[in-house]
Amino acid sequence: MSTSQRFDLGHTDDLMSFLAASPSPYHAVANAAERLEKAGFRRVAETDAWDGTSGGKYVLRGGAIVAWYVPEGAAPHTPFRIVGAHTDSPNLRVKPLPDTGAHGWRQVAVEIYGGPLMNSWLDRDLGLAGRLTLRDGSSHLVNVDRPLLRVPQLAIHLDRSVSTDGLKLDKQRHLQPVWGLGDDVRDGDLIAFLEQEAGLPAGEVAGWDLMTHSVEPPAYLGRDRELVAGPRMDNLLSVHAGTAALAAVATGPGAADLPYVPVLAAFDHEENGSQSDTGADGPLLGSVLERSVFARGGSHEDRARAFAGAVCVSSDTGHAVHPNYAERHDPTHHPRAGGGPILKVNVNNRYATDGSGRAVWAAACEKAEVPFQSFVSNNSMPCGTTIGPITAARHGIRTVDIGVAILSMHSARELCAADDPFLLANALVAFLEG
Ligand code: ZN
Repeated sequence: MSTSQRFDLGHTDDLMSFLAASPSPYHAVANAAERLEKAGFRRVAETDAWDGTSGGKYVLRGGAIVAWYVPEGAAPHTPFRIVGAHTDSPNLRVKPLPDTGAHGWRQVAVEIYGGPLMNSWLDRDLGLAGRLTLRDGSSHLVNVDRPLLRVPQLAIHLDRSVSTDGLKLDKQRHLQPVWGLGDDVRDGDLIAFLEQEAGLPAGEVAGWDLMTHSVEPPAYLGRDRELVAGPRMDNLLSVHAGTAALAAVATGPGAADLPYVPVLAAFDHEENGSQSDTGADGPLLGSVLERSVFARGGSHEDRARAFAGAVCVSSDTGHAVHPNYAERHDPTHHPRAGGGPILKVNVNNRYATDGSGRAVWAAACEKAEVPFQSFVSNNSMPCGTTIGPITAARHGIRTVDIGVAILSMHSARELCAADDPFLLANALVAFLEG
């Protein structure tokens, strides 16, 4: 089977648009859905009865999306090939009573989501985006994508110790952004402002999920523009690559004869443990996959066969060797930016990869003519984790952890090589095609 499409730097250009247009998980899944619609995918509602027709379909739930493509005439027990990723990134999120201020400054009360590099949020022009839910239950995206807020750092003259002892930030006191001047702080101001911005009737918003983002657009960087700087690469880089790969496979010349049902599963809430109705530790993926088996007339036996033959590639960013901190990495495993996707291994199951998973990934990369590298943590450093082990344990699906090596993970602005996103996408196409 021939690979339908080979991605190149145009993919990276598109990634940069995707990052800029996706300041929240809700925007990320809407933008993924829009790309899938262009490839012929259609949304199905979880509350409707599903039919067994072939073609591309997807489910949207909050900040999560599950999309799959059923080849013409695929038997109900056809195994799944899944690309898993997450849509959320560490940031500052608006509290239930957001209107606050002191000493003539108007401020917005924020809570810290996940584990951001907090210093990276200081002195940046921040916008505000997310989801507004009205009293009638409908949800609306809002994105104020212009300089609106700022978390101002304390002047060095007022804390000389920052040069000797490093920056110390109190999560409650030091990260509340300012967004104007005035002493007349009134409850409801922020939400009334956002109702206006979103063109919604005044007084109708009953709930909100709002977060800050840097308004600085992604940019090529470096002498030969071989680097990309931008926000939320962890992990919208994988969501974008998975979406592009699934769309390419579903529209490719071999789509009708695929030996697997290719799937994209992008979850919310990875950064705080995945335990939610839209997180990887919830039933969303399992429920969608088994409903797709039953909708095609499959039995519980067919469901068991489709799951037993399934493989999931859990794609998330990892750490390229930092030139200034090389001793923090394993001394012999040195993934380089621009060297192709990384295979992540941890024998204590912080990553789900084992030898059999490695073989699947190696075959996909070989077919796609993409080099890959191995990542393992320094034994003295705690190892991060991903949705990989959760997916493997929750659904009993063989899983392999891979991704793109970046610098500055969890910064408001991360850094990767310009080639790695499209190398990843090409490898994912080969994996999904089987
Ligand atoms: Zn991540």
